[in-house]
Amino acid sequence: MATVAEIFKTMEYGPAPESDKEALGWLGKHERVFGHFIDGAWTDPGRTFDVINPSTSKTIARVTDGTKADVDAAVSAARRALPAWKGLTPHARARHLYALARAVQKHSRLLAVLESMDNGKSIRETRDIDIPLVARHFYHHAGWAQLLGSEFEGYEAIGVVGQIIPWNFPLLMLAWKIAPALAAGNTVVLKPAEFTPLTALAFAEIADAAGIPAGVVNIVTGHGETGAAIVEHPDVDKIAFTGSTEVGKIIRRSTAGSGKKLSLELGGKSPFIVYDDADLDSVVEGVVDAIWFNQGQVCCAGSRLLVQEGVADRLLAKLRARMEKLRLGSPLDKAVDMGAIVAPVQLERIRTLVQQGVDEGATMWQPSWACPTDGYFYPPTLFTGVQPSSTIAQVEIFGPVLVSMTFRTPDESVALANNTPYGLAASVWTESINLALDIAPKIKAGVVWVNSTNLFDAAAGFGGYRESGFGREGGREGMWEYVKRQVSGPRSQVSGKTPPSPQRPETRDLRPLSSDEMPELDRTPKLFIGGKQARPDQGYTRRIYSPSGEMVGEVPEGNRKDIRNAVEAAHAAKGWGRSTGHNRGQILYYIAENLAARGAEFAARIDAMTACGKRRAKQEVEASISRLFTYAAWADKYDGAVHSVPIRGVSIAMNEPIGVMALVCDDAFPILGLVSLIGPAMATGNTTIVVPSHSYPLAATDFYSVLETSDVPDGVVNIVTGDKDALAKVLAEHDDVEAIWYFGEREGVKQVELASASNMKRTWATWHERDWLDRAMGEGRDFLRAATQVKNVWVPYGE
Ligand code: ADP
Repeated sequence: MATVAEIFKTMEYGPAPESDKEALGWLGKHERVFGHFIDGAWTDPGRTFDVINPSTSKTIARVTDGTKADVDAAVSAARRALPAWKGLTPHARARHLYALARAVQKHSRLLAVLESMDNGKSIRETRDIDIPLVARHFYHHAGWAQLLGSEFEGYEAIGVVGQIIPWNFPLLMLAWKIAPALAAGNTVVLKPAEFTPLTALAFAEIADAAGIPAGVVNIVTGHGETGAAIVEHPDVDKIAFTGSTEVGKIIRRSTAGSGKKLSLELGGKSPFIVYDDADLDSVVEGVVDAIWFNQGQVCCAGSRLLVQEGVADRLLAKLRARMEKLRLGSPLDKAVDMGAIVAPVQLERIRTLVQQGVDEGATMWQPSWACPTDGYFYPPTLFTGVQPSSTIAQVEIFGPVLVSMTFRTPDESVALANNTPYGLAASVWTESINLALDIAPKIKAGVVWVNSTNLFDAAAGFGGYRESGFGREGGREGMWEYVKRQVSGPRSQVSGKTPPSPQRPETRDLRPLSSDEMPELDRTPKLFIGGKQARPDQGYTRRIYSPSGEMVGEVPEGNRKDIRNAVEAAHAAKGWGRSTGHNRGQILYYIAENLAARGAEFAARIDAMTACGKRRAKQEVEASISRLFTYAAWADKYDGAVHSVPIRGVSIAMNEPIGVMALVCDDAFPILGLVSLIGPAMATGNTTIVVPSHSYPLAATDFYSVLETSDVPDGVVNIVTGDKDALAKVLAEHDDVEAIWYFGEREGVKQVELASASNMKRTWATWHERDWLDRAMGEGRDFLRAATQVKNVWVPYGE
C-alpha cells in the first residue's frame, strides 16, 4: 500500500471503477438472453448470437438474429400503430417525447454503464457525453413535436421508418434516429448494430414503461441481412441509415425506384487544419478529442492532421508528449482516456491499415506504455511523413490513428482538405477569425468546427457532403427528413386540373438529315454549352413533330461527349456560387425580362409543338416569367440560421449550393418545366446541365438566345437535347455531377437512383406528375432545399 507521501511523489492514478451492479442486474433480470422488442412486448429469443464486452472479451449476453419474419412482424406492428400515433395532437406527442427524455435521464447510470460494457468506450464519455446528448435530443425534439403544426404546416409524417445504426455511438445514434421520427408522427423499426445491441433493448423497455404506445418503437436485433430485410421491405416508407459508405451505396441501389425516402450518414476522413497562428496547446487538446475520443471510432473523427509547415515540428513534439500521458484501460475506470476497440475484426482492420502505412513508407509513432492484453485495445498512433495519396491518408481507418501532413499556404490547406471523396466534418484552428471564416465555406463538409472539434447538439444539423451521405440529423434541417408534403388538403386544390400529359410523339431519327430534306430550315440545331451555341459531337438530330404530325423543327441528339463538355463548362463556372445573392437575382430578373420581350414567340412555339391552345401557351409563358421572378426574389432571401446551441458560441447554418447539378425536365410544360428547375438551382448558386422536355425541346433551344442576352455567365446553364433517359443515365453516372433532379417515368427514376450511387450524388427523382402551373407544387422552399446543403459552422467564443 502506497503512503500518501509516495502518492504525492508519483502522482499515479489509483483505480476508480464505476459499479456495474445495476447493469448486471438488468442483464440478469433477462437471464442475459433477449428476443426482439416488437409491438410493445419481448418476442421469444430465436437463433441467438453472443454480445461481447470488448474490454474483457467475455460474453455478456445473447441476442436474437432477426429473420425476415421478425422484420415482417415489426413492420406490421409499426404500420398498425401509425394511424393513432400520427393522429395524436402535436402536444400529445410532445408529452411522449418529453417523457422519453425524462426516462433516459432517470436511467442514465444504467445506460452509461451498459454502453461502456457493450461498446468498450470509457464511462467518462458515456456518462458525460453520450447519455446527456441522448436526453438532450429527446427534449429538443419534444419541442419539434409541439411546434409541428405551425413550423411544418402542410407537411405530415412519412409513415413507417426503417432505421439502421452503427456500433460507435449506439444509444446516441438511436436517439438521433428515433427522436425526430417520433416527433414528426412516424413509427419506427430500428436495428442496432450487431456488436452493440444492448442499450437499444434497454431503451425499448424504458420507452414502454414511459408510456410509448405499442408498435411505435420496434427494435429488431441482427446482422447485415436483418438490416437488408428492413431496407427491402415493401411496407417501409423511409430508410435512415448511419454506417459505412460501402453499405450506404448498397442501400441506395437496393431502394432505387422504390419511392422510399432515404437519408444516409456515412463515412469520413475529416481534416483537422492547423494554421501557424493557432494556440498550439489548445490544438493538442483538440487533437485528443478529435481522434482519440471514442478510440477514433467516430465517423467525423479528425483523422487527417494538416499543419502549416512552420509549426509542424513544435506541434508534433507537443502531441507526442501528450500521447505519452494518455491513459488507456478498463472503460469502467473513471480515470481512463481511452477504452477498448469494439471487436476483433475492427482491431484487425486497424492493425492491417497501420501496417500498410508503414509499408508505404510513412513513419509510425506510438507511446512507450503497453496496452492491456485481455481485451481488444489499440494504442494512440501518429503517422508522419505521409503522402496525401497514400492509403492511410485516404481510407477511413476508424481507429485511434492520426495521419499528419503539412501545407504552406491557406489555398494549399483547402486543396489538401478536400482531397477526399468524403465530406463529413472539418476543424479549423487559427487565432484569425478572418482566416477561419474564409476557409470554412471552402471546405467540402457538412460541419466545420472553428478552434474546436466534435461538438454536437440536437439543435444543429449534422451530416455530410459527397460520399459522406445526404440528409441532416438534428435541428430544423433534420426534421425535414421525417416529413413529406401532405397530399390531401387545401394546397393541392389551388391549381384546379392537371393538364393532360401530351402524348410523346415518335421523334427518333438517327439519320443525319441532308440539307435538301429540310430546305425550309435555315439553321443547324445546336446545343448550349459554356455560354455558346455548340455543335453537337455527332450530326444526328431528332425531328420534332406537332401532334398533327407536322414537323416543327429539329434538335441535336446529344451524347456522352456533349454531356462531358457540358459538365466541364458547369465546373468552370462555379464562381457563380460565390457571386452575391443580389447579383444572381438581377440575372434571373433579366432572363424574365428577355423572355417577356419574346413572350408571343415562345407561346406560338409551344402551341405549335403541343397544340395546347394559344391561351394555355400564353399562360405557360406568363407563369414562367412569374417563376423567374420568384427565384430572383429568393436569391437574396434564402437565409441560413444561427442555431441556439448550449455552448458559449454560435453554430451558423449556411445554405450552400450543391455545386454542379443535372436537371432533367419532364414533358408537359416545355418552358415552364425548365425554368422551374433552373430558377431554384441558379438562385442558390449552382451551375447546371439541363436536359429539356424530351418531346417538346424547341422552347429550350429558343431559350439559348434569351440566356445569351441576359448576362448569364458562361457555363451556369448548359442545355443538352436528346434522348432524355439516355442522357439522364450518363449524368447520373458522372462523378463530377454532384446532384441530379429527374422528373419523368418510374423506370427512369430507378435508373437515375441506381446510377447515382457511384459517387453518392444527391438525387431528387420523381415519377409523380406535377402541375407546374400550380405554384404550391411548382415552386418554393422544397426546391430551394433540394438545391442546397446545410453547412454548420461552429464558432465558440470567449477566452
Ligand atoms: P460499420 O463499418 O460502422 O460497422 P456498417 O455499414 O457495416 O458500418 O454497419 C452499420 C449498420 O448497418 C449495422 O447495423 C449493420 O448490421 C448494418 N448493415 C450491414 N450490412 C447491411 C446491409 N447490406 N443492409 C442493411 N444494413 C446493413
